[in-house]
Parts: sequence; C-alpha cells; structure tokens
Amino acid sequence: MSNATLTIDLNALAANWRALDRMTDVPTGAVVKADGYGLDAGRVGRALADAGARHFFVAAAEEGAILRRAIGEGPEISVFSGHMAGDAEIIRSARLTPLINSVDQLLLHVEMLAGHRFGIQLDSGMNRLGMEPSEWAAVRAIALAQEPTLIMSHLACADTPDHPMNAQQLATFRDMTEGVDVPRSLAATGGILLGPDYHFDLTRPGVGLYGGLPFAQATPVVSLDVPVIQVRDVAVGETVGYANAFVAKTPTKVATVAAGYADGLIRAMGGQASFRHAGQTLPALGRVSMDMITVDVTALEDVPDHLQLIGPEQTVDQVAEWAGTIGYEILTSLGGRYARVYLS
Ligand SMILES: *Cc1c(COP(=O)(O)O)cnc(C)c1O
Repeated sequence: MSNATLTIDLNALAANWRALDRMTDVPTGAVVKADGYGLDAGRVGRALADAGARHFFVAAAEEGAILRRAIGEGPEISVFSGHMAGDAEIIRSARLTPLINSVDQLLLHVEMLAGHRFGIQLDSGMNRLGMEPSEWAAVRAIALAQEPTLIMSHLACADTPDHPMNAQQLATFRDMTEGVDVPRSLAATGGILLGPDYHFDLTRPGVGLYGGLPFAQATPVVSLDVPVIQVRDVAVGETVGYANAFVAKTPTKVATVAAGYADGLIRAMGGQASFRHAGQTLPALGRVSMDMITVDVTALEDVPDHLQLIGPEQTVDQVAEWAGTIGYEILTSLGGRYARVYLS
C-alpha cells in the first residue's frame, strides 16, 4: 500500500472546541464548511455535537443537507451563502437556516419559505457578504418583523489583533444592531481571541477547532505519515528529481516518499519543507512531484516505513509557511488518496 495515512484526532478536535468555549461566556458554534476544513464534515460534526456544539455553520445549502444527515435533528445549521435561487427545497427539507445577505435574498426567502427560520448577515466593512448599512437601514424594520434568529457579521483582520479594522468593524456592527433584540455573532476563531467585546451572543470558530492559527494554543488534530517507497545513495555531483533541482555536494541518502502535489502538498513548498522521524528533521530535496517527494535521510541509520510531514512536531501552519500560504489552504487541500484514520 503506497497511500499516506492521514490521522484525524477527533478527541483533539473536541478539546479545541471546549478550549475555545471556555474563553467566552456565550455559546460556541462550529464552522464545518468545505467538508469540515477537509476533514469530513459528517465525522467532525458528530464529534462536535457530542462535545456540546448546538450551532453549525456551512458555506452552501448542499453542505448543510449532508451535515444534517450526519448529525440528525437538534443542532441548528446555518448557511453563509444565504438563500440562493434553487435552494428553497433543500433549506426546507434539511431544516437549514439561511443567513440572508441582501434584500433580494430576503424577498426570495419570504416568497419561497415564509415563516421558515433565517438569520441576517450584515457587512460591517469587509465587503464580501451581507447587507450594507444603507441597505440594512432600508429593510431593517421589515426584516425584523419576520423574526430572524441571528444577526451576524464577519471580521476581515481578526488574526491581527491590533489592526484598527477590528475596532472599526466592531463599532459598525454595534451601530447597525443597536436596539435589536436578536442574538448577535461577530467572532470566528480570531475574534474569540480579541476578547469579550467581540463575543456577543454566539461565536463561530472554524480553523481553531482543527488545530490551526490564530489559535496558537490549539491541540494538533491532523497528522500525515507518508510511506517510503525506495531509498538510494546519491553520490557527489549527482542530481535528484525534476530539473535537477538538487545537486549532491556530499554523499546523500535519499528516500522517495509517496505523496505529492496531487495530494495537496503544494509544489511551492519545494525544497523548504522537511519531514520528521524520531526527533530528526529530514529536509525535502529538489522539487515536489505529483505523487512523490524526495527526502534527505542521510541522518537516519535505519530508514523507517513512513516519514511524518504533519504531526505534533510540525503543524499544518508550518507546512503552510513553507508553501507561502495559510493553514486553511493546506487543510482544505488534503487529498482524496490518503488512508484516513479517525481517532475517537
Ligand atoms: C470561515 C468563516 C468562519 C470561521 O472562520 P475561522 O477563521 O476558520 O475561525 C466564521 N464566519 C464566517 C462568516 C466564515 O466565512
């Protein structure tokens, strides 16, 4: 078997949810969009529901329907994209809560599903989703008369605590929701860490649950162990891999491991990456191939069956940094070829 093993620790996931929950005095939701940040929304959702999560968020109605089948009735499932044309049946049958983003969506929702639960998403400055202040002012009374269950907005710079945008969005959100007697939500993972002013009535962490920054104290959730296919000795002056990108300056023992950019190990991380085994750091050599990476294992007397790329010693965010991206992208790019093992 040459597929790498992706181990997902659902106990660590639940521990992260509880840790984020302890940081606030309000209920803690869970964002499981993009198939639970690549880790399987159904399994992640069940583990978080068992831990006590009662409010889930997904990006699209279709994701909500899959999650509903996995977690059953009870927890609320809200949809960030709101009520899109063609969504009414799925919203109704899966008992989803669309987070209405515009006057058009509000009209569509009332026309298609009058009386069905909905929330409202406001734009407090990010200019991505939600009603703008003027739009909201125009329909606020009508919308509130339909009794939304949540009013939310999203922070653009929450992972940079002293960014002035945070306070600016907080003020705008307060302004837009003043005197409104509906539960409010502003904070994702970064917002939770900004402190109580940002917590309102419900938080919506995503990445922190999965062990990612900006939740630096998170327990690692994911590990990735990649099988060694072959080991060879490379003499001085010989090259390794495409474009001869590595040239041996000293005699080098090279292991070829079985995962590559088609498995989400982004090619841009190239020679910056390293693997781990028994406390040793083992640098990747040359280019990342589609299905393989070559690794300098000169330091190892005995080369093991697997080398570890992601684990307790080397986080998803470390791998992201090598690739010039963020942990979110590494997680959601983890490929379909891995053998997935869920610890619970
Ligand atoms: C993705 C997302 C979240 C979760 O954000 P994290 O940074 O992963 O915690 C919360 N709210 C909205 C609107 C989102 O799009």
